[in-house]
Amino acid sequence: MKYDVIIIGSGLGGLECGYTLSKCGMNVCVLEQGDALGGCLQTFKRKGTEFDTGFHYVGALDEGQSLWRLFDFFQLMDLPWHRLDKECFDEIILNGEQFKFVSGRAEFEKELASRFPKQKDNLKKYMSTLADVGDNIFKSFDTADAVDFYQKPAFVNSAYDFLNETITDEKLRNVLAGTSLKMELHANLPLYVYAQINDSFIQSAWRIEGGGQQIAECLANSIRQMGGTVRTKAKVTELVEKEGKLSCAVVNGEEHMEADTFISNAHPVATLDMVKESQVLKKIYRKRIAGIPNTFGMFTANIKLKEGIPYLNRNQFIYETNNIWDYASFDTRHHTDAALVSYQVPTGNSPYATNIDILTPMNWRDVEQWAGTKVMRRGEEYETFKKQKLQQCISLVSKHIKGLEDCVENVYTSTPLSYADYTSTYEGSAYGIKKDYQKLVFTMLTPRTPLPNLLLTGQNLNLHGVLGVSMTSFFTCAEILGMDKIKDLLKLR
Ligand SMILES: Cc1cc2nc3c(=O)[nH]c(=O)nc-3n(C[C@H](O)[C@H](O)[C@H](O)COP(=O)(O)OP(=O)(O)OC[C@H]3O[C@@H](n4cnc5c(N)ncnc54)[C@H](O)[C@@H]3O)c2cc1C
Repeated sequence: MKYDVIIIGSGLGGLECGYTLSKCGMNVCVLEQGDALGGCLQTFKRKGTEFDTGFHYVGALDEGQSLWRLFDFFQLMDLPWHRLDKECFDEIILNGEQFKFVSGRAEFEKELASRFPKQKDNLKKYMSTLADVGDNIFKSFDTADAVDFYQKPAFVNSAYDFLNETITDEKLRNVLAGTSLKMELHANLPLYVYAQINDSFIQSAWRIEGGGQQIAECLANSIRQMGGTVRTKAKVTELVEKEGKLSCAVVNGEEHMEADTFISNAHPVATLDMVKESQVLKKIYRKRIAGIPNTFGMFTANIKLKEGIPYLNRNQFIYETNNIWDYASFDTRHHTDAALVSYQVPTGNSPYATNIDILTPMNWRDVEQWAGTKVMRRGEEYETFKKQKLQQCISLVSKHIKGLEDCVENVYTSTPLSYADYTSTYEGSAYGIKKDYQKLVFTMLTPRTPLPNLLLTGQNLNLHGVLGVSMTSFFTCAEILGMDKIKDLLKLR
């Protein structure tokens, strides 16, 4: 049987492409190497408790907002979304001092202006730029020409320069950048990435009761209902090129599956490695893609709690450093000065948290010595390393969550090695290819590859995160359906 489209990987981007193309009548097959669907959206269960891996919250899900428009199309709005507190959806704790991120652009600005009165006008300018990017998000669908799109001011400027030019108080700059463990801050981060992510969460912020896996399962069920195929334990081990284009995908080293078009949701380096023999993919192209830096990875502690820690309907971003902008370039192995604490929505109306996740950036170089080892069999030294990192995280966080140390029932930890193993992300990177405003064309990849029927999708292209990946899935589908069709589907005209 020959499919219209084979999609390699069931991360959010792969499943969303599968949904859109199925909706347009195409015969689609999604192939996932893992036991579970969803890539970073996967949850795992230990002793009856479900833990998230790479999903904690999303923004802009209120009716009419950007992610709502996309998730409404994907029929994801009936999932148990849970709004975070409007009065404080993110709490920034900077060297012991607390600051609130309040929902709504005007309210956000007002709250911080009350803390930094001399920066009132500057905050207005700051918010106006963020709002401009957020309000015009769908304008990116007006041009199919990526080069044109990337000429816009939000792309050709860096977030770092924008903040320095707009906000003259150093502490406020750190507070505003304080939720940025959701991206990798560095001096060359394009303003667009920073502004779009921050604005979407300021509009409204949401958790999902029961874990992010539901998003993947819901999309997969819809694809199946529309006649498509979604398979797990189906690793694409080779993409076969014939007469200048791909002819088939080899699954688990034995099954040959044909399609007209192939979309890869895997990291671009992993994707190119699948095309083992090629006349079309030149060495220089492979070298260029392999040479693009990737963002840091994450160390995550998923903690099951005994009763006693109150549930917080907000996230906490804790820093014991002023070095927020290039935090990850320092020693993430021996020091933990920054962490995100995310609470899982408790079932029922319990006032207590059942489990929390602590996340902190971790570089590949910290774990590289164990690369190539297998899960659960990485050795004693690795286990000791993880225990030490966990202790650093708990020491940092327990200063702000009273009684945490006594309430830990079980802990499960993961490092960039776990992500590299489970999702094939390059060097365990959390957010994929590192975007650079000075090298936009090289770091913001388009879905096209030199092979005419191989397209890319997912966080390694335009933007990471649930909103970014969802937007990107439409750029990928537009290569097959045309942008006019996408605009019709999303009722954008
Ligand atoms: C720790 C962490 C926390 C995060 N928290 C948030 C958050 O709170 N909010 C938010 O918006 N974003 C968050 N993100 C980012 C977000 O989860 C990702 O940007 C997004 O889910 C990535 O989706 P993707 O489609 O690019 O693919 P991925 O999730 O990377 O999935 C790729 C899939 O392809 C499969 N695959 C790879 N190779 C093959 C092969 N050869 N054959 C078959 N299948 C293959 C993999 O197994 C995987 O399932 C977080 C990320 C991390 C790592």
